[in-house]
Amino acid sequence: MRAAWLFLLLTPLSAQQYDLVIRGGRVIDPQSGLDAIRHLGISGGKIQAVSAAPLEGRAAIDATGLVVAPGFIDLHSHGQDAENYRYKAMDGVTTALELEVGVADVKGWYDKRKNQTLINYGVSVGHIPVRMRVMRDPGDFLPTGDAAHRAATDDEIAECRRQIDQGLALGAVGVGLGMHYTPAASRWEILEMFRAAAHSGAVCFVHVRSAGAESVAALEEVVAASALTGAPIHVAHITSNGLGYTPRLLTMIAEARARKLDISTELYPYTAAMSAIESALFDPGWESVLGIGYHDLQWTATGERLTAESFARYRRTGGGVILHMIPPAAVEAAIASPFVMIASDGGLRNGKGHPRSAGTFARVLGHYVRETGTLSLMEAIRKMSLMPAERLQERVPAMRNKGRIREGADADLTLFDPATVADASTYEDPAKYSIGIRYVLVNGTPVVSDGKLREGTAGRPVRAPVQ
Ligand SMILES: [Zn+2]
Repeated sequence: MRAAWLFLLLTPLSAQQYDLVIRGGRVIDPQSGLDAIRHLGISGGKIQAVSAAPLEGRAAIDATGLVVAPGFIDLHSHGQDAENYRYKAMDGVTTALELEVGVADVKGWYDKRKNQTLINYGVSVGHIPVRMRVMRDPGDFLPTGDAAHRAATDDEIAECRRQIDQGLALGAVGVGLGMHYTPAASRWEILEMFRAAAHSGAVCFVHVRSAGAESVAALEEVVAASALTGAPIHVAHITSNGLGYTPRLLTMIAEARARKLDISTELYPYTAAMSAIESALFDPGWESVLGIGYHDLQWTATGERLTAESFARYRRTGGGVILHMIPPAAVEAAIASPFVMIASDGGLRNGKGHPRSAGTFARVLGHYVRETGTLSLMEAIRKMSLMPAERLQERVPAMRNKGRIREGADADLTLFDPATVADASTYEDPAKYSIGIRYVLVNGTPVVSDGKLREGTAGRPVRAPVQ
């Protein structure tokens, strides 16, 4: 009795009351190397305490048996609407960024999402959409007309550069480029976009010009552009461009890094790609470039494999198609490489698309950590949180407070069960929530709780300073 009274007396003096405490989880922080049972105190959307001793809070999550990781940061997330943010959250993603394609209207994009989103969001200014606007391309998302197939005039190149500069001034995270979709864009035009990025200290997020055997030259183009202009580069989905040549591309990137060029890359952990059938990716000659045929294509709307006849028919109407073309050894080589990050390249439309949209991050933890042992848990978490944060933090200083578990960091956290975490989405049924992701916090607010999605608007913009 007397002891209890003493405790009550001392509590207000000795223990701070947090908004929320996360009790007894296995906290893994890839920056400090911490991997130990800890208690987290969260207030005001920030991690205020990382403690070996228990903490008191107005609310608590029992994290016994769970891994507590920094929330996953997806550098390549085309799906930027309520539907996609739900699948991202259930896959442990707290920040989803559209950096490869990007947008032309940066301000409008951010304004539309303000205080509306479940998770954090951000965008680059994209050469593809800017070129589509300047050249009046009729395509939806990817070009199908002049922006794909016509060389730009000097005036059009200057206008593209002006719009890229403008997007950067409005706080775009980086510059997106995708020469495989704009094959008529000259190397000089691409250099102009790199110059714009370099001028603003922005990273170029690039889908290189070709694939397979031609990916070696395609990678050389962007490495040379980086060396000439000083713009850092992040090469999108190394495996779906490299295909069987992925190990060679990894060697080239290691060499570029050894020469002090600022270059990084990513992959999604799948052996199939996805793209738009009406895009320039499927211009004549695609079979030899990609090393596949009609039967390797799977129509997302129905799950059917294609034939010459159905390919021609669907290319006229347009839509999403899966390409079964990435060798498993390419995925293994890339995922094991220390400079390769994890990014989904996902985007569902009304539940249709590629399983990477919903399952990328849980698949890494379930398949490549637990089942195959290709990655340690620490290394996997580093590739999915700290590395992407570090990639962006020079231009977006707020990223210094993401991807880490330490006092003062944003309380973006993912709590998962390492024994059961797994992807559930498939090529035939891509809109399936991952399993084993138990809690997800965005800026201190639970958006996944006890394995169930909550609605909310906890997401905040990831944006470079507006000029
Ligand atoms: Zn791409």
